[in-house]
Amino acid sequence: MEAAFYDGNGQMIIQQHPDPVAAEGDAIIQVKATGICGSDLLMNNDKEEADELPAGHEVTGIIVDVGAAVDREIVGKRVAIETIGQGLACSTCWYCRMGQYRQCQNKVQAEGGGFAEYIKRKAIGCYEISESMTWDEGALVEPLAVSIHGIRRGMMNGGETVAILGAGTIGLTAVVAAKQLGAGKIFVTARHEQQAAMALSLGADYTCSPEGEEFENLVRSHTNGRGADLAVETVGGKSNRTLIQSVESTRMQGRIVILGGFRTPLQFDWLAPLLKEQSIIFSSCYGILDGYHDYEMAINLLSNQSNSLSDIVTHKYPLEEIQQGFECAYDKSTGSIKVQIHQD
Ligand SMILES: [Zn+2]
Ligand SMILES: [Zn+2]
Repeated sequence: MEAAFYDGNGQMIIQQHPDPVAAEGDAIIQVKATGICGSDLLMNNDKEEADELPAGHEVTGIIVDVGAAVDREIVGKRVAIETIGQGLACSTCWYCRMGQYRQCQNKVQAEGGGFAEYIKRKAIGCYEISESMTWDEGALVEPLAVSIHGIRRGMMNGGETVAILGAGTIGLTAVVAAKQLGAGKIFVTARHEQQAAMALSLGADYTCSPEGEEFENLVRSHTNGRGADLAVETVGGKSNRTLIQSVESTRMQGRIVILGGFRTPLQFDWLAPLLKEQSIIFSSCYGILDGYHDYEMAINLLSNQSNSLSDIVTHKYPLEEIQQGFECAYDKSTGSIKVQIHQD
């Protein structure tokens, strides 16, 4: 099959790669769409070696083959693939028994991702999408599930005020997740105009630039000076700026969920959140909480005809043009928010 690889030198290139073969509990999925995640861009920046396996974890497609232990009934189903947790997990260790597949102790190592014609994962990690859902929406299940997981780990109660740091894909899916799970006012920082406009159209109440103290002041001015009940940090990177902003814009005894990947050790003043008695909660990927997998909740939400999350898909490229897709995703002056690779 054809698959895309980072060449270690700034380019995504297409190469031939062996077709995946289904063992026992596996499914082989013909990939229809794969989103380019901010982490794909950032990881390439940090890499000096070429990829040995294709990346891509926001994946949707059609099951075309299954292993001997899987009911062949599921062949032909349209699915969103739980690529990082359940799709690689053993289903039997202590964490898997708790539904926390991301923390599985016996995960399959080194399985290729969705920048390829086919992908292999455990069949149990393939979630059927509804007929009304497009492939664009199928590939948004993963980033939406990440944000749903964050909001749930942040124990958001209905009516609470939520401050969202960042308006990239995860910031925007966090707006939708918070709104759907019953948030009160939602505040968002957005660096680019298209992100601010999208945040408002998806249900945010107020947006502003991340520069200076503008955001902290905005949140305080709408919360009687207290700050938000819950902050969701979605930026990460190599600066402590959004961590400080999260502490500043959250009320005393409020909660701060960290979804952003920080890619370098950072200095941070721990005394401020201690004196404010804030809870800092890390959240990575997805899993089962209270009986429901975040993928199930994301699919339900995207099946609702009134949802408009797929508006964030601003650009689509075929697999052969993945390099242009990556360049477009990097360069926000193109108006890009979510860029997807389509093979449909
Ligand atoms: Zn991602
Ligand atoms: Zn396990």
